[in-house]
Amino acid sequence: MNIQHHGAVNGVTGSCHQLHIDDNYSILIDCGLFQGAEKNKGNDVDNNEENLSIDFDISTVNALIVTHCHIDHVGRIPYLLAAGFRGAIYATEATAALLPLVIEDALKVGVTRNKSIIDACLKLLTNQLVPLPYKQWHNISAKGSTDTKIKFQVAGHILGSAYVEIELNTPDSQKPKHRVVFSGDLGAPYAPLLPAPKSPYRADTLIIESTYGDKNHQHRKDRTKQLESIIEKAVADNGVVLIPAFSIGRTQELLYELEKIIHQQQKHHPKDQQKQSALWQNIDIIVDSPMAAKFTEQYKRFKLFWDKEAKRVLNAGRHPLNFEQLYTVDSHQEHLNTIAYLAKSRRFSSPKPPSLSRQVVCAAAVE
Ligand SMILES: [Zn+2]
Repeated sequence: MNIQHHGAVNGVTGSCHQLHIDDNYSILIDCGLFQGAEKNKGNDVDNNEENLSIDFDISTVNALIVTHCHIDHVGRIPYLLAAGFRGAIYATEATAALLPLVIEDALKVGVTRNKSIIDACLKLLTNQLVPLPYKQWHNISAKGSTDTKIKFQVAGHILGSAYVEIELNTPDSQKPKHRVVFSGDLGAPYAPLLPAPKSPYRADTLIIESTYGDKNHQHRKDRTKQLESIIEKAVADNGVVLIPAFSIGRTQELLYELEKIIHQQQKHHPKDQQKQSALWQNIDIIVDSPMAAKFTEQYKRFKLFWDKEAKRVLNAGRHPLNFEQLYTVDSHQEHLNTIAYLAKSRRFSSPKPPSLSRQVVCAAAVE
């Protein structure tokens, strides 16, 4: 067995690892796009040649395992399909539901608007996709090769995210079973909405990806307090808060935290009794991204994978991703209408401080 890394080596994007199990059999773990400064070959900003092609031999690749749907883990899948890969694409059930949406958007934004090309790619993708439940072993052995099983475990990063355990067993050898674990992206403990990952029982070889390895995250309570006070300050200044956020994961976490703040304000200060409480009850929260809205729908569909706290909130009759103050922009026309509304009501692009009774928070998702 050996492992080749075709991405996320010199930087943190373009995740793609090839696990060579024997001479004729390998599997890929993720096939992501290089982003930001890592987009150009050799990370050279003056080099316009992008790192898009699959520049390694895929003749032995039998299957692709997808840990989660962020573009730096799945964005090169269309190029893999174009290079002739026709093996199974294994993903958790929620990731399998999200993946066609992500790939369709990536193709439209970065490759082509040609509907027949997009449809052809999506058809291949959905035919090859094999959704698997969490926490269950699944045999993916190719004929005549090493006995190979995979199991997805909760990673707590975004909806459907998983780390994958791969067990290799060569029956005719004296070697013991070998277990390889690929982390994908792992969620921080105490993050909102999704449960934290649990450590694997065993790993003989472990490949961990780390974007924030050199940072200590702020405690969730402090972060929420900070968000609350920034918004209150903006409202006091008659301002607008624009929050750029990834459309899968961060947007839904933000909505969840905002709903919590609104709820707590209402609970502690009955409506209209306190100025601050009235502020929160009357705030507009606008998600200005049709893609983020689509992903939020999927988060609602897969409530099964929410953490205990989020399920308790649901059972108490609250709707953390679908609350009264939330407005979702579903189309470009609605986006234009929203901008016009903000400009007209002087909540946006105003040269002077506008006089407002209410404020707007825009969670504008960018990818
Ligand atoms: Zn990610």
